[in-house]
Amino acid sequence: YHARETGANYSLYDPTHDPHNPRRLALMAELRQAIENDQLQLHYQPKIALATGGMIGAEALLRWQHPKTGMIPPDQFIRSAENTGLIKPLTDWVLGTGLRQCSEALASGALRHLAINISARSLHDLRFPNLVGKFLKASGIAPEKLMLEVTESAFMVDLQRTVETLAVLSHMGILISIDDFGTGFSSLNYIKKLPVNEIKIDKSFVSDMTSNENDLSIVRSIIELGHNLGLKVVAEGVENKATLDSLAALGCDYCQGYYISRPLPHERFKDWPGHASGKT
Ligand code: C2E
Ligand code: MG
Ligand code: MG
Ligand code: MG
Repeated sequence: YHARETGANYSLYDPTHDPHNPRRLALMAELRQAIENDQLQLHYQPKIALATGGMIGAEALLRWQHPKTGMIPPDQFIRSAENTGLIKPLTDWVLGTGLRQCSEALASGALRHLAINISARSLHDLRFPNLVGKFLKASGIAPEKLMLEVTESAFMVDLQRTVETLAVLSHMGILISIDDFGTGFSSLNYIKKLPVNEIKIDKSFVSDMTSNENDLSIVRSIIELGHNLGLKVVAEGVENKATLDSLAALGCDYCQGYYISRPLPHERFKDWPGHASGKT
């Protein structure tokens, strides 16, 4: 069935994602433990406005500190977690922890919004908005201060369901960002059906945009498309000043990247320049 085939075509065979791979099974058993035993952390990466340099938000990024093998990056376990149902407790943990750690900064306005990455799986679950609502209520944070980053793959697997779920979330006041924009091979059809606030240009286009004409054209086109649709445009993966300047010249609204700040553990993020001052 066509929609699923399209959705799956970004995952060419990869043994670590084979459901019967013993290493993967062991890893998932350990992840289950990690969720329970506090081996997970969130790092926070500032998102700044290109016009002012002020922080307008931050993205929470999951880190797994494995007692034996050290830090395991999310790309190595998120997809397996999606396929084994572990994504549900994982997402619960991220929402709970992120909102709790940032509640003070969000309440004071030092942080305007917290962005959390949401897997396609969660968006196919019609109960998901309810769950998010519970976390917001428990933390006392206004829905307008939570942004959910979703990738195009969600639309490719089940457009109808994803649109429905996002419509409810948006109606609640939650902000929606389309992450890794331009990498999903999907039609742009979904974007006009959706209450999206922001699109995020994938770092694969951003990282070489100052040396590669094609990448520059793609970045320019996405900015124009986003603005024509009335959306804010964010560039991710900004690693040097030349890229930052080029994005500013193109009228991109916001950016994120190592040049501004790496994702930081909460303790360090709290002291990140501009955060305490609340200036934007
Ligand atoms: P993403 O949401 O597109 O996040 C951007 C990735 O780029 C992050 O990798 C970030 O650390 C990295 N990055 C930021 N600035 C730069 C830069 O200047 N240069 C380069 N080369 N990389 C940069 P990370 O943290 O390894 O996360 C990878 C992906 O894992 C994320 O991509 C997201 O799709 C997923 N992910 C992370 N945390 C969560 C989570 O809590 N839940 C879910 N469902 N997915 C998550
Ligand atoms: Mg993201
Ligand atoms: Mg991204
Ligand atoms: Mg990504």
